[in-house]
Amino acid sequence: MKATRIYAPLSLRMEDIDQPSIGSEDVLIKVEACGVCGTDIHIYEGKAGIARYPVIPGHEFSGRIAAAGVEAARHVSIGDRVVIDPTVTCGRCIFCRSGRMHLCLEWSPIGVVRDGAFAEYVKVPVHLAYRIPDRVSFEEAALTEPLSCCIHGWDRLSPRPGFTTAVIGAGPIGLMHIQLARLSGASLIIASEPIRSRRILAEKLGADIVLDPFEEDLCEIVHRETSGVGVDIVIEAVGGARYLEESLKIASRGGKILVFGVAPEEDKVCVSPYGLYRSELTILGSFINPYSMDRAISMIASRRIDVRSLISHVIPLNRLEQALRRELKDSVKVIVKP
Ligand SMILES: [Zn+2]
Ligand SMILES: [Zn+2]
Repeated sequence: MKATRIYAPLSLRMEDIDQPSIGSEDVLIKVEACGVCGTDIHIYEGKAGIARYPVIPGHEFSGRIAAAGVEAARHVSIGDRVVIDPTVTCGRCIFCRSGRMHLCLEWSPIGVVRDGAFAEYVKVPVHLAYRIPDRVSFEEAALTEPLSCCIHGWDRLSPRPGFTTAVIGAGPIGLMHIQLARLSGASLIIASEPIRSRRILAEKLGADIVLDPFEEDLCEIVHRETSGVGVDIVIEAVGGARYLEESLKIASRGGKILVFGVAPEEDKVCVSPYGLYRSELTILGSFINPYSMDRAISMIASRRIDVRSLISHVIPLNRLEQALRRELKDSVKVIVKP
């Protein structure tokens, strides 16, 4: 089968390799669509600390069941259309055993630590495969995993309807957060994004005010629109110290900041303990997608969340490296069809 493997940072090769052999509880997936994520770019650039090389990346994928192990065959049929949760956990550590499996001490995600879906076939444990309705295309289904991560963020926030919010960064993730904010009852959504095509999408998908941070100052706009109070919820969907610092400036008293973007590991932020105390600020991390895959599939199937508009490119496997080098113009979500 064709597969794209990263051997070391910036060293990627497309090659012909054997199909993975499956165990009793595994299924073999014929990959139909796999989204390119910031994490894939980080693996390619050598900036994803957890990645193990060599690895076939790709963790946002859908496809058909091509083969099933003896035990797995009790739960699925050949040809089933499925989307995969890439989260492989140990089931034994204190976090797995206390309902927090996403914090697993031995987390080994597909497409990061184990071989992923930028290949014709990929092996996955059967319990991570979710059937998708016929009306959901494979391309749309490939956005289930990122959406399920965003849903977890909103589980963390538990917003009160009528809240005001600012979303920093309107890439695929920011654009999902904008839609979730609207569905959660936001009364004001302000989005900050430097790329014009993404700003147009942000407006289309529900942001009330969209600004270019190189032209306008987010703090000024938030203060103007909220009579100097700040927003109830800030979603940091870029990743980096300065975006968290900006979040701290625009959150209202009693506000919540969701740290969603993946920052460089060495980034540090200067925080005033007095400010946190006096303003009762809550800073929340949000990591991957516990117990939210089914809800993501439902929201895509019901079209409550528009993922189709986020797909800017559908490319063959041999153009993956172009996407990882950020060479595709005006890209939002790039989908690879191996
Ligand atoms: Zn991802
Ligand atoms: Zn565990």
